[in-house]
Amino acid sequence: MSLHITPEMCEAMYGFLLTTPPFRSWYRQKKLPSSDEVAFHVIASKLIRGDHELTPEGETIIRISAGLVETVSELHATMAHEMIHTYLAVACPGDRAAHGWRFWRAASCVCRHHMLSEKAF
Ligand SMILES: [Zn+2]
Repeated sequence: MSLHITPEMCEAMYGFLLTTPPFRSWYRQKKLPSSDEVAFHVIASKLIRGDHELTPEGETIIRISAGLVETVSELHATMAHEMIHTYLAVACPGDRAAHGWRFWRAASCVCRHHMLSEKAF
């Protein structure tokens, strides 16, 4: 049986992760918005688990796919992944490499703290 992901679950997961390292320190450095400053959308993609967008107006949007994210563990890993993109969009705005060295350096730290597999990340 799969979890039917909702925007409220996404917001709750994001808010929870903000209380954990390394997101907590990124949030304190104002490099991550609070959960009520992010628009959470659930999409049905079978191609991507999630994505992130920082609009020209400065709004952060995180989309999670209910087509591929079906468990709390998958929501945890996918939200953590998108939060790294959100962090880097603020911390390194000129970096256009979606999964470049900065991403993997941050992902390594997140995976170590959260016992997530970098291979599946
Ligand atoms: Zn990514």
